[in-house]
Amino acid sequence: MRTLRTISDLRGELGPARRAGRRIGLVPTMGALHEGHLSLIRRAREGCDVVVVSLFVNPAQFDEACDLRAYPRDEARDARLAGAAGADVLFAPAADEVYPAGFATTVSVAGISDPLEGRSRGAAHFAGVATVVAKLLNIAQPDVAYFGQKDAQQVAVIRKLVRDLDIPVAIEVGPTVREPDGLALSSRNVRLQNGERERATALARALQAARDIAAAGERDAAAITAAARSAMAAGGVQPEYLELVSPDTFTPVDVIDGEPVLVALAARVGDVRLIDNALLPAVARSEPPTGSH
Ligand code: AMP
Repeated sequence: MRTLRTISDLRGELGPARRAGRRIGLVPTMGALHEGHLSLIRRAREGCDVVVVSLFVNPAQFDEACDLRAYPRDEARDARLAGAAGADVLFAPAADEVYPAGFATTVSVAGISDPLEGRSRGAAHFAGVATVVAKLLNIAQPDVAYFGQKDAQQVAVIRKLVRDLDIPVAIEVGPTVREPDGLALSSRNVRLQNGERERATALARALQAARDIAAAGERDAAAITAAARSAMAAGGVQPEYLELVSPDTFTPVDVIDGEPVLVALAARVGDVRLIDNALLPAVARSEPPTGSH
C-alpha cells in the first residue's frame, strides 16, 4: 500500500486506473482505525479494483477545539491496518493541502443537516462534513464511496449532497460494527475511562429497549422513546437527544406506520460524546406485532 499526501500524486496514481476502466472505491476516514472502518475497507476490496482510504482529521467538522485536540492519531498503525484490510492507497493529506490559504467555499445541505447532530453540534458540523466529502469525491473521483450506518445522519446528508450536486458516485453503507456487549465501535471509545466504558453500554441498551417495545407492538414514538430513555437512565446516562425520525429525511416520526423508522441518540459519557442508532422495521399501524397470531 502506498501513502500519498498530495492531490496531484493521488490523481497521478488513479488516472491510469480510471482510464483502464478499473473500478475505484473510496473509504473516507478520520483515522484511529477500528473494525468499523476495516469492515468498510474490506467491502471496498470486494467491490472494487482499486481501494483508496483517506485519512484526514477534518478540522472543519469539529465544534469543540478540545475534541479536535484529543482526537486519537496514529498514522503508522492506521497504514498497517488499512493495508492489511486491502487498501491500495492511503491518502493522508496535510490540512493546508485540503484547505489552502484563501479557501473560501462551504457546501451545506439545508434541512437534513439541521436536527439532531446539527442541533447539538451546530450548523458548521455538517457543513464541514459536506464540504470535505464533496472535495474528497472530486479529488479521488471514485465509482463507489463507502460510509457507515453508525453515522446515519451523515449518510443521509451525503446521499442528498451527491444527488443535489449530480456527483457521479454510488454511495454504499455498511452496518454498524459493535463490541460483544453492544457498544458501537468509535474512535472516541479509547477515551472512555474505567467505569465509563461500562456505562457507555447504556446507549446500545436504550436502542434494544426501543426495538423490544416496538417488536411487542408499540407504535407510538413517545412511548418508544420513553422506554429507551428509562433503559438509558438505568445505566446512569442522560441522552443529549433520543428521537424517532425518518431515516431519509430526518424529520420526526410520531407514529410508526408502514415506513422504517430510525431511533437516533447521542449522549455524553464522561467527557466523551457518543452517538448510535437503530432501524425499526416498517410495520403498518394496524398490523399485529411480530410473533403474534
Ligand atoms: P470516522 O473516522 O469516524 O469519520 O468514520 C469513517 C467512516 O467509518 C464513516 O463512514 C463512519 O460512519 C464509519 N464508521 C465509524 N464507526 C463505525 C462502526 N462502528 N461501524 C461501521 N462503520 C463505522
